[in-house]
Amino acid sequence: MLSESPTLAMSARAKELKAQGEEVLDFSAGEPDFHPPAAVTAAVIDYVRTRPVHYAPVPGLPALRDAAAAEFARYHGRPVTRGEVLVSCGAKHSLATLFMVTLSPGDEVVIPAPYWVSYADMVRLGDGVPVIVPTRREDGWRLQPEALAAALTPKTRFIVLGNPTNPTGAGYPAPLLRALGEVMARVAPNCWLLVDDIYRRLVYGGFEHVSAITTLADVTEQIVVVDGVSKSYSMTGYRIGFLLAPAKVVSAASRLQGHTTSGAATVSQIAALAALTDPSCEAAVQDMHAAFTRRREFMLAGLGALPGLDIVAPDGAFYLFCDISRHIGPGTQFADDIAFATWLLEQKLVGTVPGTAFGAPGHLRLSYAAADETLRGGVERLGEALAGLP
Ligand code: PLP
Repeated sequence: MLSESPTLAMSARAKELKAQGEEVLDFSAGEPDFHPPAAVTAAVIDYVRTRPVHYAPVPGLPALRDAAAAEFARYHGRPVTRGEVLVSCGAKHSLATLFMVTLSPGDEVVIPAPYWVSYADMVRLGDGVPVIVPTRREDGWRLQPEALAAALTPKTRFIVLGNPTNPTGAGYPAPLLRALGEVMARVAPNCWLLVDDIYRRLVYGGFEHVSAITTLADVTEQIVVVDGVSKSYSMTGYRIGFLLAPAKVVSAASRLQGHTTSGAATVSQIAALAALTDPSCEAAVQDMHAAFTRRREFMLAGLGALPGLDIVAPDGAFYLFCDISRHIGPGTQFADDIAFATWLLEQKLVGTVPGTAFGAPGHLRLSYAAADETLRGGVERLGEALAGLP
């Protein structure tokens, strides 16, 4: 049976408490709190005012596929054709569709933990088998070549790398990416690398995001990239994601979309087209990035000063992954991270997501995609909550 998305469940409970009038400070949501760039909103309004809204072609509006192909070509440093790009209803949908059309029963998919909550269930949806490979805090929560080598088998179809990763924010620098690519080419030459680049524009502190396609020239034919507008343009509700894959895979995925969603919503595609092509959007993206940079620093300093919250400074995304093992287990008031997160929400009105949801018990994920006042109040409230513990 598929599990409920734990991050969405925590956010839903936080929203429920808010609706009851409680002053919840919510760090559970995985979405930017900004308006999208003004040109996006203007394009949508103009479109819906001036014509009826019809179905778009199943793989996406040609103009949007071309714009995404141009952006992929620029970023990944190789020509990209429209046929290699599929527009879906969010990167989540791109991933689910990809697994459904590429996996055969029993195919294995290597997923480093802590992992984004949906990967494993999406693999199961495609009849595949998730192979969870733990990463270590000492390694900055990055998959290491030896651990990858040990996890690969003749049945491995994909290795999934979030770059940067949700929930830890860990990114993959070029040398590590190269080392992982070498292992893949040597041990499982038929397997593919799936790079989830949804947070690639949200990196900080000198971390440089590199294209896996450019970095791993030897296995470039076996790299599939998922990307989208949700996080970097603050367009989560528009639900537009992109798949960059060989034309054969895009065509199969498009056929599946044809029988499931009929493609992504036309209005949302118009919005995404404006995001990718209107030159004014870049400044808005930079402004959001600057706000995230400031918030990350504030949260690292604020939470770093609290007792028993140990954090590896993240390379990207907008999460802090805190080790709370000193506050849970025998001799404490909480059985585990779930009990701790539940207490924080229900008693202290601070919304977080327990690490168990990401395959890493003993941790909490806090999203700093929240207003500055919420962050300030949250650090204070967390400080009081922790100070009250034995
Ligand atoms: N990949 C990762 C790692 C994410 O954290 C998310 C959203 O939380 C997604 C993909 C999905 O993004 P979208 O909103 O485009 O479906």
